[in-house]
Amino acid sequence: MAMKNGGVPSGGLIVSFGEMLIDFVPTVSGVSLAEAPGFLKAPGGAPANVAIAITRLGGRSAFVGKLGDDEFGQMLAGILRKNGVADDGILFDTGARTALAFVTLRADGEREFMFYRNPSADMLLTPDELNLDLIRSAKIFHYGSISLIVEPCRSAHLKAMEVAKDAGALLSYDPNLRLPLWPSAEEAREQIMSIWDKAEVIKVSDNELEFLTGSDKIDDESAMSLWHPNLKLLLVTLGEKGCRYYTKSFHGSVDAFHVKTVDTTGAGDAFIGALLCKMVDDRSVIEDEARLREILKFANACGAITTTKKGAIPTPPN
Ligand code: ADP
Repeated sequence: MAMKNGGVPSGGLIVSFGEMLIDFVPTVSGVSLAEAPGFLKAPGGAPANVAIAITRLGGRSAFVGKLGDDEFGQMLAGILRKNGVADDGILFDTGARTALAFVTLRADGEREFMFYRNPSADMLLTPDELNLDLIRSAKIFHYGSISLIVEPCRSAHLKAMEVAKDAGALLSYDPNLRLPLWPSAEEAREQIMSIWDKAEVIKVSDNELEFLTGSDKIDDESAMSLWHPNLKLLLVTLGEKGCRYYTKSFHGSVDAFHVKTVDTTGAGDAFIGALLCKMVDDRSVIEDEARLREILKFANACGAITTTKKGAIPTPPN
């Protein structure tokens, strides 16, 4: 994935599927949404964050998803392009707005969300609109679970996943649980797990591990209860405590870097983006613990750096 050809992104293509939206982040920390004196506009949406993390590291990525044909949608597409993310999988909806999320920063840097999606353009992506040639050219196909919440986007997600898999892509899944978006917790768990055994790489956070297993234990036993036979690599990210990794033949943990955290938004996206970038051209790293640990150290560093700034993707300069 290294930058070759004088800074031109190189390596196998990673296609990231799902939502892109605007995060409105309070200008001051530790306040409720009502108390916030103002908000900073920041591009967000986990799959888009991952696509940008990849190109910023010199890798090749494309984003597949739908934006509103409005100023915010055009702005977001522009940010993807400026960051070198391929835009031939991006669609615009003339009838619905780009999604918005107001994200509060609590005093400890943790997040709370309030979404404007009734419906938003990302939810209206249909299977027929997908750029299948682009999806077929992916070496890795990455996705979350927000695109599973409603039709027609859910069917588009399932079709894209199937097409990518049939064409030989590695499937990478970061559920990115956003409970307020689901009709109920049961529905969220059921739908997130409905595509569980398709993915070969899965990343969950400690909170997601608790939610999916129904246990308050963050240990090897609860992590391994999520294992399935097609899985090659399971990652549990632990915020300031780093991450744990599980493969068929070994498991362990890698410590985080100590940084001055301002906002944890996007840490997990930077983490998985870095990991995918490092393995897209050499999947054998999953079988080599020493190399995998090096890569996870790098992914932890990318996650840590992201927490030192507000917003998931700092808006690039014009
Ligand atoms: P998510 O954003 O999906 O909830 P995490 O918060 O666990 O994921 O963050 C992903 C990775 O980013 C962690 O495994 C860790 O390496 C790094 N990271 C996150 N928060 C911090 C922090 N406060 N200090 C240092 N590293 C962090």
